[in-house]
Amino acid sequence: MIDRDRPIEDPAPRELAEAINDRQILAARGPKNRVDPRRAYQAFVEPEFSVDRIVEDVATIFLTNRECPFRCLMCDLWKNTTDDRVPPGAIVQQIEHALASLPAAPRIKLYNSGNFFDAAAVPREDLPRIAKIVGGHRSVIIENHPKLCDDRALRFRDQCGTDLEVAIGLETSHPPTLQRLNKQITRDDFARAAEFLTSNGIRVRAFILLRPPWTTEGEGIERAIESVRFAFNSGVDCCAVIPTRSGNGIMERLQREGLFTPPRLTSLETVLDETLRWQSGIVLADLWDAEQFASCPVCARQRIDRLQRMNMTQTVPPPVTCPACDSDGGGRFE
Ligand code: SF4
Ligand SMILES: [Zn+2]
Repeated sequence: MIDRDRPIEDPAPRELAEAINDRQILAARGPKNRVDPRRAYQAFVEPEFSVDRIVEDVATIFLTNRECPFRCLMCDLWKNTTDDRVPPGAIVQQIEHALASLPAAPRIKLYNSGNFFDAAAVPREDLPRIAKIVGGHRSVIIENHPKLCDDRALRFRDQCGTDLEVAIGLETSHPPTLQRLNKQITRDDFARAAEFLTSNGIRVRAFILLRPPWTTEGEGIERAIESVRFAFNSGVDCCAVIPTRSGNGIMERLQREGLFTPPRLTSLETVLDETLRWQSGIVLADLWDAEQFASCPVCARQRIDRLQRMNMTQTVPPPVTCPACDSDGGGRFE
């Protein structure tokens, strides 16, 4: 448990090179955004390639609730959370309000900047009402920590009465890096959670980071590909590959110390080029704010469009050729 009253020391560079702990991660944070516990902090409908192998609209609702008790190194989701539990009924109100403002969509994601089955985030007594509201969708997708995947998921699946999918952060299957990410899991924890869920008829999607800290560009590509392989071998049927971003304080600190460099857009292409060819499951590139990862302004748009086509078709389009950057291989490896 974090003692918020104790002064927090700024980590020295030498300590940054080693494992980073909760206290150091908290010390580097800036302020949270102002949020309203009665309103989801964001909601939209977007198309996504589904397990039925067609592109379908997904209503995505980012719930406002108490921040996650874990302190993952790369996480910035705490920015849109409350310090305290939201009152019973607030999450229900958020979902009802968001759905009323969105066009109808066959599938729904409830992302809560943490773990859906953390009772301090989503009050347990709200779950039956939430299930009733969202159960009319073809699938309900929630996010959850591997260590919180247990009978609660089975009860919620039954309450929803429709397909349930749990999104879990594997982040990386590279054990030393996973440990340094401070997620408090091993890849075996991930595999166990995936096995528990899939053996109970619950689909699993995995979040995988491209080039986390302490990783070169080349290692970032190789380890992301290996992580997708590990996830598919664990029974996952959808992997979302997320370029590692700064933005939470400690990541900027690592960047300044030369321990973290954001990945290149071309590396994201390489990971999808490889993993889509396996046809082992769905692979999606996270393209939020993707321009920031482009190292060449001439082909950035074309590369993002290509990745978008990969997301929507799950095929590999011809590579982008660029007169400005092809001579350095598109910046694929350092
Ligand atoms: S478990 Fe998820 S929400 Fe919690 S700190 Fe880690 S990445 Fe962030
Ligand atoms: Zn270029």
